[in-house]
Amino acid sequence: MKAQIKVITARFRLPPSLLARWSSHLLLGALAISVWGCAGTPRGQDDGGMSIDFARVPEVTTQAPKGVVAAAHPLAVAAGTKVLKANGTAMDAAVAVAATLGLVEPQSSGLGGGGFLLYYDAQNGKLSAYDGREVAPAKARADQFLMANGQPMPFRSAARSGRAIGVPGLVAMLAKAHARHGALDWSLLFEDPIRLAENGFLITPRLEALIKRAPELADHPTSKAYFFDKNGQPKTSGTRLINTEYADTLYALKAMGPPAFYRGRVAEDIVAASLKAKLGSVMSETDMAQYKAHQRRPVCEPYRQWILCVPPPPSGGIFLLELMGILEHTDIDTRGPQDPQAWVLFAEASRLMNADRNAYHADPAFADVPQDILLSNRFLKKRARAIGPRAAETVPPAAIKTRTTPPKDKDTGTTHFVIVDRYGNVASLTASVEYLFGSTVMAAGMMLNNQLTDFSFVPDQDGVPVPNRLEPSKRPRSSMSPVVVFDRRGNFVSALGSPGGSAIPIYVAKALVAHLDWGLDLKTAFDLHNVIGRGNTVAIETDTMRRDVFEGLKRYGFDLKAVTFEESGLHGITARDGSLVGAADKRREGTVGYVTAAPSGR
Ligand code: GLU
Repeated sequence: MKAQIKVITARFRLPPSLLARWSSHLLLGALAISVWGCAGTPRGQDDGGMSIDFARVPEVTTQAPKGVVAAAHPLAVAAGTKVLKANGTAMDAAVAVAATLGLVEPQSSGLGGGGFLLYYDAQNGKLSAYDGREVAPAKARADQFLMANGQPMPFRSAARSGRAIGVPGLVAMLAKAHARHGALDWSLLFEDPIRLAENGFLITPRLEALIKRAPELADHPTSKAYFFDKNGQPKTSGTRLINTEYADTLYALKAMGPPAFYRGRVAEDIVAASLKAKLGSVMSETDMAQYKAHQRRPVCEPYRQWILCVPPPPSGGIFLLELMGILEHTDIDTRGPQDPQAWVLFAEASRLMNADRNAYHADPAFADVPQDILLSNRFLKKRARAIGPRAAETVPPAAIKTRTTPPKDKDTGTTHFVIVDRYGNVASLTASVEYLFGSTVMAAGMMLNNQLTDFSFVPDQDGVPVPNRLEPSKRPRSSMSPVVVFDRRGNFVSALGSPGGSAIPIYVAKALVAHLDWGLDLKTAFDLHNVIGRGNTVAIETDTMRRDVFEGLKRYGFDLKAVTFEESGLHGITARDGSLVGAADKRREGTVGYVTAAPSGR
């Protein structure tokens, strides 16, 4: 690790495909071009990181923080900054933050779930994507979410069942990425979460409210004992939660690494709890032992004078890029947050993107995801031209009919955090247990996910298999879209992401437009009202939207749904004036931690 590199001022080399698209509308100046293979990846194999070179002479400002953590809970931020202070990398800190969030934000993420990571490694100059998405057990069936009458189950009955639990991927992903990007020993990264699990932490107002919204927790004795008091009432804010089982799991992980999770006691507990849960599960210890996280090549596309990088499918990243690509062919950048036309464009572009996502998004190892077409200039221009003078009554997907069930409205089972360390490394990680507290089943101190409900419940439509149908060992499509932004000279600009189910790409796109196009600082961009165009309705956070903007959207003819609160939880870090600034969405309990102390020397 190059300890002398202090502030992220990245120069990166653009892939030729990117250059081709960009050169059509931008003057590139003197950009270095590196070449690497772009061949497809055989199923189940890693395809490496994208080569991105850091500036050889980074700009260093003495005032710049020596690390920043932006995450959904102050205790997780504290765990991350502590690791950074001990000269850990962003990857070391990411392990500590993820393990802590799994304890203190159990409604949203945890080691019993999965996630996607973008990691910018300053030492070897590569941006890599890591896929820790859950997989379906080998014996899972395509029709397992259909009822006896052939109709799809109600979402909640499926989600709160053993059948929804996918083989967890977060631990394998963290371990794989840590082996490459970690500087501290893995065993040093669990100090804070173990202490908190043993001594307890206080329930926050948000956690209290969410326990009340998940009565199914009481259906499982372990979850009930943890989240409910002796009188059967949901525990309230300020109550101390102690989780010695989680501490035991972390002790095992700390001592033996990921094998302690995927084999032996922890794996046995996960499988046993899944089998015992409602509707049962077909997960086996072999499924656990065979789980593999993947390192994948990120997808980078230009957006005006910036470059946006996301993980490839099954993450939702390319649909964030599609949405941004459609907007690039509009004049949204010349408008602003108080211009109704800006939101008209945003909402219509979101509806178009969502229609395509519903039709084409799936695990590319099992289905043909037409990524190149969806991200081509020609296609995006055509999609942008579909935005007319009045709201479209219906928005069909491009070229072929929708082949998957529509996504659910809202989720709360996800979290996003961003870390930048003193060396210039960046971690942008979205983790999830899917719905609120996942399946509500607890094992080895963790909430087990319900991620398999992200598959289409209906395997075939009109006799044609839907791309996102459930198949053994397949990964369900995900909305999660962590993003890292560079400018056209290759300098790091920002990294961000959000939870929020199918609205994730839209929350992230709103923040990007507000931040990049309109020049709002990251925090203001995050807190700005959300406008969600999905299907035939447009949901609007009306509390903070000016009346005239709302009226403008109404006049355009949208079927508007006024909401007081959208579940975004944007977290991010941006480089500004030679320094680093983090931001946390006002809608959740997240915060930002800065490391300012001098390093202890290495
Ligand atoms: N399970 C969802 C996905 O992977 C995310 C759920 C949420 O954001 O709460 O897309």
